[in-house]
Parts: sequence; C-alpha cells; structure tokens
Amino acid sequence: MGKTLIIANWKMNFTVHEASVFLHKLDKVVQNHRNVEMVIAPTALCLQPLSIQIDHAKYKLAAQNLYWRDEGAFTGEVSAHQLRGLVKYALIGHSERRYVFHEHEKDIRNKVQAAVRNGIIPVLCVGETAAERTDGETDMIIHNQIVSGLANLTADEAKTVVVAYEPVWAISKGKDFAGHASATPGDAAKAARSIRRQIQHLFGRETAQEVRVLYGGSVNGSNSAGFLTVTELDGLLVGGASLHVDEFSKMVKSAHDRR
Ligand code: PEP
Repeated sequence: MGKTLIIANWKMNFTVHEASVFLHKLDKVVQNHRNVEMVIAPTALCLQPLSIQIDHAKYKLAAQNLYWRDEGAFTGEVSAHQLRGLVKYALIGHSERRYVFHEHEKDIRNKVQAAVRNGIIPVLCVGETAAERTDGETDMIIHNQIVSGLANLTADEAKTVVVAYEPVWAISKGKDFAGHASATPGDAAKAARSIRRQIQHLFGRETAQEVRVLYGGSVNGSNSAGFLTVTELDGLLVGGASLHVDEFSKMVKSAHDRR
C-alpha cells in the first residue's frame, strides 16, 4: 500500500487572506506523516500565494478544475498548461461541475487528457445520483463515466490517474457535512472494486492495480477511520469537513493510524 491520500476540496470558500490564515492554523496542529499525502485544493486564485506559503514536503496543491485548451479566447477559464508546475493534481468531473455547470462527458475526457499532457495528475470524480442509485444503476454509471473519462489515455497514462468515487447524493452542501448521509464503507469498497474492474477491462490488470481510488461524500473526523479500513481505498476526498482544522487533523490522524 502506498501513501494514503487526503484531498481537501475547499470549493468556493476562503478569500486569499482567509486561506493563508487557515493553513497557518492547520500547520500548527497537523503533522507531516510519511504514510499520508495531504493535498489542498483551494480556489484557483489562492494557488499561487499558497504555493509560496506552504512547505511542499508537507502539502501538495490541486486545482478544482481546469480547461483543456492550452490558451486562447476562453474567457474565465484556467488551462492545464497555465497550472503546470503549480499543482500536482486537478479534480476533474466533480459532481458540482457535472450537475451545476453541466459539464459533458466530452469536456471531462478532454480535461483528463489535458491534465496528463501537462504533467498534472487527474482526480477523476465519478458517482451516481440518488435516482440512479434507487434504480440500481450505480455500476452502470461508474462504468460509463470511467470508460468515457479515460478514453483518450494509454494504459501507462491511465496508471497515474486517481479516481474518486463520490456518490452525488452523499456530497454535503458544506456546513452540513456532519449530519449529511454518506455511503457506507461497504458501498465504497464495492464501488472501488467496480472501478478497478472497469479499468482492468480497458487497460489490463497492471493498470487497474496501480490506479488509486478514493472515497468522497460527507467524510469527517468521526467517520474517516471507518472508510480507511477499506483496503480497496487509497484515501479520501473531503469537502465541508476540510474547512475545519480539528476535523482535518482527525482525518489525517486516521490516515496515519491506518497501518
Ligand atoms: C466533495 O465536494 O468532493 C465532497 C466530498 O464534499 P463533502 O465532503 O462536503 O461531502
């Protein structure tokens, strides 16, 4: 087992100043463990200043989104090419991008490819809605999103990818992360096996074994240890709870205590 990956998706929270103060506080509480990789995904505006502030041996940075064209007349977008060297990871196909901003599978596929082309590790988010879950379509949705999202990659490129299983119904609105419904560790294990099965089918066994799989959806300091008992998971993608120093440090501790 490699390092356990904990990605903090701050979404559209924190000004540049607030992000800096938060990280300063976090840094006093959270330790750097050799077996845990801590990744912060702030708004694009905070990436440059945080990159100057952070200890890069302790934290890595991720973009929450990117655009797949390298440059040009694309108002409001930030390209993978512009993010190159600034971030290690980029979230792609997050459910808020899919369902609030109506991102299509084709955009997601292009973004995954652009990230890889620019040396950024894509964190491809997949997962079913509540209605799809009720209709027993979870496996099919995961299958479709994996096949489509990774279609432009070679087997070697696909090995580097991180896939986050994030059932849409389990994702909190931010402040409600503690009371919100989450999947069970059993659901996450089943989805992780399904993700690896699809990847094996597409790229072979070796790639399927190397791809890292995360769970995300209302994870917090109280339930993270339960998810991390799932051996099929390589870590967690956390939204709401990652905006609280104590919650984040509990999750990091549970990742450290994992083995
Ligand atoms: C997310 O947005 O990726 C997420 C998992 O959010 P939350 O932890 O708040 O459900």
